[in-house]
Amino acid sequence: MTVSAITSLMEVDDLSIHYRQDRKTLKALDGVSLEWKPGEVLGLVGESGCGKSTLARTMLGLEEPVSGSVLLEGQAVTNRSTRSALRRKVQMIFQDPYQTLNPRQRVYEIVTEPLKVQGVEKKLHQGRVEKALGEVGLEPERYLDRYPHQLSGGQRQRVAIAAALVLEPEGLICDEPVSMLDASVRSQILTVLLDLQKSRDLSLIFITHDLSLAWSLCDRIAVMYLGRIVETGSAVDVIEKPQHPYTEALVTAAPVPVAGGGGRRELLKGELPDPSNIPSGCPFHPRCPKRFEPCDEIVPQLVSAGASGQSAACLLRGRPGEESADA
Ligand code: ADP
Repeated sequence: MTVSAITSLMEVDDLSIHYRQDRKTLKALDGVSLEWKPGEVLGLVGESGCGKSTLARTMLGLEEPVSGSVLLEGQAVTNRSTRSALRRKVQMIFQDPYQTLNPRQRVYEIVTEPLKVQGVEKKLHQGRVEKALGEVGLEPERYLDRYPHQLSGGQRQRVAIAAALVLEPEGLICDEPVSMLDASVRSQILTVLLDLQKSRDLSLIFITHDLSLAWSLCDRIAVMYLGRIVETGSAVDVIEKPQHPYTEALVTAAPVPVAGGGGRRELLKGELPDPSNIPSGCPFHPRCPKRFEPCDEIVPQLVSAGASGQSAACLLRGRPGEESADA
């Protein structure tokens, strides 16, 4: 993938998001730092409830962090002008296009809406809308006047992608974009996204619980567990040589064709703990088959482990006598 002179499209630094729930504090994000490079396809993976969507929403300024910062092209997103730049440059599409499309608007109005919000000149609307629809494989003359209920699930997701593209963003965050679609339509939508990534040199974040999808689509992966990133690296390194026991368990439990995956769910024992009562030490230790003495006391930090550019937050890594990647 092409990488331009700017070193990061977005960065988050030590980001924490807390919610109050039943008089307890739920740490949806706990000290997350991550870089999203221009032109990169970055995967956010992990079980449901680990904080993937919260991270995406916070990156887009839809959640207010209790601490930490969000940067767009190296600038902290703090004031009106940086927030406005963020709204133009980074868009998001969701799992269920039916919920995000206004049922009372025709396709033309849906795709025009972001242009109106951003104050784009009216005379440019028609051309921009038709271009965006063409890019997602919908002929404008056939679809402009349709309502969402007159479209199939795949067509609705194409319209949602067109509405995200119409502002010509640099980044697109895709939150489980194909998980509600039929298998036959899934690959079509993924092809649309990857073609756009190449033709526009778009940066993509792919939120998914499907490791085989992340493996086949992403340049880099961040694995999340209970509001933290526990492993990052190239998609191939992380999935083929996981350095964190949680990633290893996910890979082993994943359906083939992920390398090493065999659908053996028993390796990921137990449920995700209550996020308002995160275990002490390493949050994964109660479920970890490799836990040892200090794991319930020491919170592991991300350290280099495995291949170049790969890191893991596990006490087995980054110290003399650490386990080898293949252990
Ligand atoms: P994922 O996308 O990985 O499934 P989420 O980011 O949706 O995870 O959620 C992370 C945690 O934060 C979950 O425990 C979820 O219940 C909680 N959470 C998310 N949004 C809210 C909210 N608005 N209020 C309270 N808790 C929330």
